[in-house]
Amino acid sequence: MAGCLRRTRELLYRGSTEAFGFHRPRLLGFIVLAAFATATLAGCPKSRGSQVQRVECVGNLRRAAVACLNYASDHNERFPESLREIESAVPAALLRCPASGKEYKYYSRGDLNKMRRPAKVVLLKCPTHRLKAYADGHLK
Ligand SMILES: [Zn+2]
Repeated sequence: MAGCLRRTRELLYRGSTEAFGFHRPRLLGFIVLAAFATATLAGCPKSRGSQVQRVECVGNLRRAAVACLNYASDHNERFPESLREIESAVPAALLRCPASGKEYKYYSRGDLNKMRRPAKVVLLKCPTHRLKAYADGHLK
């Protein structure tokens, strides 16, 4: 026991320039690096949270766009007049951006058959993330 204690003491204070087996400049560098890593990790939860909300927003928009396309498919290729008409397929809570709570902007586009290029026609838009869902179902 005493030997173990002496060995620990020797490891901690090897002469005046070493502590914990490191020379002081290295130990100082290690402490600075550890402090930087801690500060970086402390900043992560917020950015990770916003990334999660963005991913949720993409999922919500995709689900809403698919519901609009399914609606059109069931109604002679006519898109719904408002998002209220797809609330049976998509809960109202998912028709909002999870980050801001703002409702998605919906552009009623009438008849899918009359569209020349559905891939260029914006159907839904998130005002917060500026994500857009197009009439062919893709997101950008
Ligand atoms: Zn959003």
